[in-house]
Amino acid sequence: MTGRPNVHDAEPIPRAAREEIDRLLTSGDLFRYTAPDDAPVSRLEQEFAAALGVKYALAVSSCSSALFLALKALDLPRDTKVLIPAFTFAAVPSSVVHADCVPVLVEVGENYRIDMEDFKAKLADDIGAVIISHMRGHTSDMDAIMALCEARGIPVVEDAAHSLGTLWHGRKIGTIGRIGAFSFQSYKMLNAGEGGILVSDDAELIARAVIMSGAYEHNWKKHKGPRGQNDPELEEAFARWQNKLPLYNTRMSNLSAAVVRPQIPELGRRVRDGLANHDYVAARLNASAWIEVPPPLPPETRAPDSIQFNLVGMSDEEVVRFQQEARARGVNIQVFGMSQDNARAFWNWAFLPEAPGALPRTRQMLMRACDTRLPVRLTRPELDFIADALVSAAHDVKVAARAYGT
Ligand SMILES: *Cc1c(COP(=O)(O)O)cnc(C)c1O
Repeated sequence: MTGRPNVHDAEPIPRAAREEIDRLLTSGDLFRYTAPDDAPVSRLEQEFAAALGVKYALAVSSCSSALFLALKALDLPRDTKVLIPAFTFAAVPSSVVHADCVPVLVEVGENYRIDMEDFKAKLADDIGAVIISHMRGHTSDMDAIMALCEARGIPVVEDAAHSLGTLWHGRKIGTIGRIGAFSFQSYKMLNAGEGGILVSDDAELIARAVIMSGAYEHNWKKHKGPRGQNDPELEEAFARWQNKLPLYNTRMSNLSAAVVRPQIPELGRRVRDGLANHDYVAARLNASAWIEVPPPLPPETRAPDSIQFNLVGMSDEEVVRFQQEARARGVNIQVFGMSQDNARAFWNWAFLPEAPGALPRTRQMLMRACDTRLPVRLTRPELDFIADALVSAAHDVKVAARAYGT
């Protein structure tokens, strides 16, 4: 019998990282701007940009700082309204507040994707930018979003923190908007403990973000164009912004870059295994009358390392019992809207400068949407352990309890 799977640990960090870290510890060369060139952080940026097929990447301390810098790079005036989905991690509205802007929340449907009717209604003239948060990798209708935003000249920032490897019509998520942001926190596809990266094809935006990330004096000269080549457009943009921007110092350390770099070649396998695992568990869960895993939108190829599903036909009390039954079987389930102080429930974002509104669709979804990790390294028996636990927990809540008259 398979025991309770460990769903917390990530994969071991590849051995090559340990050798590189040993080299860095021996030389003490941990700051990205000490060496004249080829610092591990610069190499990570080149490799990541090449893997995504974009011109520029800027590695920083977290995805949150990447989102903050993206908004600062767009040069949004104070109090600009920024449209964000109402279902996202608290870091997203936080980055908007950090950039002195005001988040406006858009409804999210029971398939975890942006409600396009509400999006259209709220995309008014006073919206200065849009952040699309592909929450848990669930991709909203990027065709409709880009068409609506391009028609109004509104820049789109993609929060692809948890979406690395996801495709939309075969295009890499995070490369569709003006700027994309990814996370290297331990629960994401590439794990540095902490870290993030911002990508763009726009030299002006990248130059501004690089300087504000802490490339003081002439350290920007260590940021090159694609494949490490000199890039006149980028150099002109740096010269234009020299001394004109504040330095927020959200840099990445060479140690973090050394941890991420050898994981990039593992990404294809992780995405493949993660999707196969997810779809296997999803099919098993969908066989239950009480559980529904929303399908992806047709243009979307997912890259999941967790699974989300809705409980169907259950009262609040039954949802609580479902969680208890699942836990008794060794599987922890988070219902986004039911756990106290959940950072993904918009009513807990009491720091918002403006009240978010009622958002009934998102609220309803959050009260039934369950979340459980599904690390890509899990084996088939471990996946069956999780699926069995969830299906039988739902059955016990809905059927067995009734049969016994409890
Ligand atoms: C993890 C995550 C973030 C924050 O990333 P950090 O690197 O921890 O700042 C933002 N948005 C989403 C959707 C996330 O999953």
